[in-house]
Amino acid sequence: MERLNLRDSGMKFVETHNHLTGWSPDAKQTFEELEAISTERGLHGFAISDHHDLDVFATEENPWEVDVPSYVETFYNRRRMPSKRGAGDKPGFLLSLELGWTPHNGVQLREIDEQYPFDYTIVAVHFYDGYDPFLHRDKIYFQNFEELYTSAINMIEQSARELSCSRIVAHYDFFSRYAPEDKSKMLYRHAPDSFDTLFRTMRDNEQILEINTGTISAMFRHKGYTMKEAMPDPQILKRYRELGGRFLTVASDAHRVEQNGRFVKEAIAYLNSLGFEEFAWFEERELHYSRVVL
Ligand SMILES: [Zn+2]
Ligand SMILES: [Zn+2]
Repeated sequence: MERLNLRDSGMKFVETHNHLTGWSPDAKQTFEELEAISTERGLHGFAISDHHDLDVFATEENPWEVDVPSYVETFYNRRRMPSKRGAGDKPGFLLSLELGWTPHNGVQLREIDEQYPFDYTIVAVHFYDGYDPFLHRDKIYFQNFEELYTSAINMIEQSARELSCSRIVAHYDFFSRYAPEDKSKMLYRHAPDSFDTLFRTMRDNEQILEINTGTISAMFRHKGYTMKEAMPDPQILKRYRELGGRFLTVASDAHRVEQNGRFVKEAIAYLNSLGFEEFAWFEERELHYSRVVL
C-alpha cells in the first residue's frame, strides 16, 4: 500500500474522518502526529471526528462518549479553513464529531449537533440491536446477508433521517467487516429497496456518502478479496448517483498513525473509474468540494 500523496499535484483533498488518542478509547494517534502526516501527504485539510456513542454499555462511565464542551474548547480555535489556505500554509483543520446513532438517542445527538459549532458531524451506526458486531458476533451474524444488510441499511436510513443535520453518512458497510464468513462484502442486491430509500433520504437532507477505507482494508486483508474486489460495489455507487448523489468523501477513519491514507489512493482511482471526481468536505456546515483525479 502506498499512501496517497498529493504534494505538488495541485489537487485538493480533505480527509474528513480521524480519531485521536485521549478522545476515542480505540485511538492511538496525537493531534500533532495526525497534523504531521497530513502535511507530509500533501492534504488540503484534515478533520478530527472522535466517537460520541451514547448509551453503549450500561457502565457508569462511558469512555465512548466525548466530553463535548472540552473537545470544542480544546480544538475550536485551532481550526484552519481549507478554503482560506494560502501557499505554504499547513493543511486546513476541521472539527467534526462521529455521532453513534442508536434507535434511542436520536434526539440527544441532534441537540449536540445543534448546540456546538462543529464544522459538520458524521452519523454512524455501530450497534445492531444493542450488540457490538466485534464482541457479539453470534447475536448479529445468525441470519443471511440479505436479512442482515437490509436491517443494517434500514437502520442507517433511520439514523440519516433523524440526524438530518449530520452532513456525512459514515461507513454504510460497517457490518460487513465482522461477519464470520469470507466474502462478506455488502452488495446492492442484498438490500436494493433499502439502499434506494437511504439515498433518497440523503438527497433530501443533502448528505454525502462516505467511502470508508477501513472496510476496503478489512475486505482485502481478512475476507479473501483482491484489491479490486475489495472496493465498494459499483451497483451501490451507481444507484447513489442515479438518486441524486453527486459528491463522495473518502475517509481513512485513521485511529493510528499507520492507518492514515490507507487505500485512499486506490479508492479514489477506483471511484474516478466510475465517474466520481468531486470529493467533498464541510466548513462551518457549508459544502466545499474539489476535483481529484488520479
Ligand atoms: Zn465509525
Ligand atoms: Zn470513526
